[in-house]
Amino acid sequence: MSSTAITGIATLVTNDPSLGGGSPRSGTFESGGGSPLGLLRDAAVVIDGDRVVWTGASSEVPAADHRVDAAGRTVIPGFVDSHSHLVFAGDRTDEFNARMSGRPYSAGGIRTTVAATRAASDAELEANLTRFLTEALRQGTTTIETKSGYGLTPEDEARALRLAARHTDEVTYLGAHIVAPEYADDPAGYVDLVTGRMLDACAPHARWIDVFCERGAFDGDQARAVLTAGRARGLHPRVHANQLTHGPGVQLAVELDAASADHCTHLTDADVDALANSRTVATLLPGAEFSTRAAWPDARRLLDAGVTVALSTDCNPGSSFTSSVPFCVALAVRDMGMTPDEALWSATAGGAAALRRTDVGRLAPGARADLVLLDAPSHVHLAYRPGVPLVTGVWRRGVRVL
Ligand SMILES: [Zn+2]
Repeated sequence: MSSTAITGIATLVTNDPSLGGGSPRSGTFESGGGSPLGLLRDAAVVIDGDRVVWTGASSEVPAADHRVDAAGRTVIPGFVDSHSHLVFAGDRTDEFNARMSGRPYSAGGIRTTVAATRAASDAELEANLTRFLTEALRQGTTTIETKSGYGLTPEDEARALRLAARHTDEVTYLGAHIVAPEYADDPAGYVDLVTGRMLDACAPHARWIDVFCERGAFDGDQARAVLTAGRARGLHPRVHANQLTHGPGVQLAVELDAASADHCTHLTDADVDALANSRTVATLLPGAEFSTRAAWPDARRLLDAGVTVALSTDCNPGSSFTSSVPFCVALAVRDMGMTPDEALWSATAGGAAALRRTDVGRLAPGARADLVLLDAPSHVHLAYRPGVPLVTGVWRRGVRVL
């Protein structure tokens, strides 16, 4: 193994509050405490093999085999995108175009993608998946979760998970995305399939189980049946909750100690209280509200209540076809009441919390060496300069991949 020292970092985001402060309220950066970002100025980081081994002042950097001069730029932990749907074929350009043009559109939404995905070969699906993973990596995402949910048969769901597991450890079984078209008149029969033969086929390939708990998809009782069946097979729950309407998803997520309740756009005070008094992370997915012209989730309300918040892309061909975490950070700051510090924390450490990971989403000794070099003097530029490709370097597991 060889070590690399990255020096001359104007702003190093560690997400370790014991190492440093946060953004300035008036002029100069604080040093020591005060912000979960743990910012260090004029800093350096040393990586050895796939781990971070040292962080501190650039002037005190220990010797290393290689040296990279950040030249006054910013280093942040790689983004942890804890919610995406990347195993699919086809796209839904016409549906998006109609929605944005104010025209009615009556094609089948998710069903359109299910048909295209079932018809695709393994090679086509895997080529699509790797294309989107590369796209995400170029934008600074070094850990990504992805789901099945466009197969909806035991064979097609298991295939999606097998393909996903070749590329990421964070694989989620989402047979309960919608009721499969073949079961339109027998939703109870479909839940039996999802919790029975389909689960048997899928459990070996996944870490997580998810359900779309929403009017028109699965109600609270069906969602509970899906998640408890998965849990009995060793899968950990996460929930698509309260996206389009108030519903039981958030309360169910908390009741089952789900790692995350995702979307959280329509919440009652009781939902917010339940999240605040739980280990369940609220994962906000503003790409979905952007792409459907829907009301934003209220991040400020959740943060003020003490809820742990993650920010992710929800990358999927229907309602949020972006793989860009920086874009989501900018939306969260502009429209959801998050500060630039909070949004970056949520897109890194927050995403790690939503996946119950402690090795990623931070840059302190012992953490995985997943680093992003931003062509900017501070991380605030992620929101200050929206849409600008600021990511100029990416290390994943200690290897420079960009
Ligand atoms: Zn989703």
